[in-house]
Amino acid sequence: TLTTDWEAIRNQFPVLKREIKGNPLVYLDNGASSQMPQRVIDRINDYHSNEHANVHRGIHTLSQEGTDAFEAARTKVKDFINARHLEEIIYTTGTTDSINLVANSYGRKHFREGDEIILSAMEHHANIVPWQMVAEETGAKIKVIPMTDEGELVMEEFHNLLSDRTKMVGVLHVSNALGTVNPVEEIIEAAHAKDIPVLIDGAQAVPHAVVDVQKLDADFYAFSAHKMCGPTGFGILYGKKELLEDMPPYRGGGDMIDKVTFEKTTWNDLPHKFEAGTPPIAAGVGFAETIDFLNEVGMENIAAREQELLDYATEELRKIDGLKIVGTAKNKASVISFLLEGIHPTDAGTILDQKGIAVRTGHHCAQPIMDHFNIPGTARASISFYNNKEDIDRLVEGIKYVKEFF
Ligand code: PMP
Repeated sequence: TLTTDWEAIRNQFPVLKREIKGNPLVYLDNGASSQMPQRVIDRINDYHSNEHANVHRGIHTLSQEGTDAFEAARTKVKDFINARHLEEIIYTTGTTDSINLVANSYGRKHFREGDEIILSAMEHHANIVPWQMVAEETGAKIKVIPMTDEGELVMEEFHNLLSDRTKMVGVLHVSNALGTVNPVEEIIEAAHAKDIPVLIDGAQAVPHAVVDVQKLDADFYAFSAHKMCGPTGFGILYGKKELLEDMPPYRGGGDMIDKVTFEKTTWNDLPHKFEAGTPPIAAGVGFAETIDFLNEVGMENIAAREQELLDYATEELRKIDGLKIVGTAKNKASVISFLLEGIHPTDAGTILDQKGIAVRTGHHCAQPIMDHFNIPGTARASISFYNNKEDIDRLVEGIKYVKEFF
């Protein structure tokens, strides 16, 4: 990381120059959405100004240019996560959409009464609710891998849960509420030994580490552009070709068909079979630019930088009396959730905002985690590579101010 000029990189993010309530913004809500560098914003504006047209349908120049720019994102994503085939990259509107696709398409086809879906105790609601909905319809049941008070999965229990009834395992790679990095390699290997497919929710992993889907051998891998310096409204489902080919479409409409008559419709090939209707073109074009940007900064650099900032923040927050870190797993990325003795997280977040410090408060769409700890929620600082030590120092000062305030 010695050669990386992090201040120059930070300067590429215009929103970070903002003032909030008279203070320079300290943006520590990257787990919810991270910011876009100028070049991504420019690329999206340029698309809107000069290239906007619908894709995949037109023979006119604009449509062809738009299609090329939009499809370029697919190749970039394929290389970015090292997928084997281009058709394995399905465009969605985000992680939630990706997981709903698999739950509805794969789940409705394969789940039967008495089958089991294994999820973990620290899942985001996006990797719970779609499975629940399909389970209710099909008669399948959900089993939960428990976690410890440190926020680590009890792997022994996971191995015990795997059985002939298991038809799917769904686990998040990195917890958005606790920061835990889960041993997904071990989970995938154990599930595959019993021929069970695994979906990994990578929403909080792809922005912070090198992810190689072939090395992981994940069957499905889901993530969102807006958590990795890209625009909202765009996401990816990676799926192994053999599995995707065997799955029925999830939504019907234009683009996903081969031949339509009122008697029968046949499906388009992968990946278009799963991409009904006009896609989020501008966001996809912007995401292609985002990936170029991330590749230039380097994901290994990003991971190292964020780990350094996380370690620093953890050390500094630990020094604050009455502050408790929720989620103390050995292997963590980007996230520090914390509680202040006698102060509701929402109140802490409100006072921090007065100082220009953006953190998230609440249950972080992971209510079962909060139930585990018997708390209403936490305050969460989530770090990106464009943060710096000064941001962490401002957070520490802010927390001290919150304590004095109450
Ligand atoms: N899973 C995890 C772990 C997340 O952090 C999030 C976003 N908070 C999601 C899923 C859902 O992502 P999206 O809202 O972009 O669909």
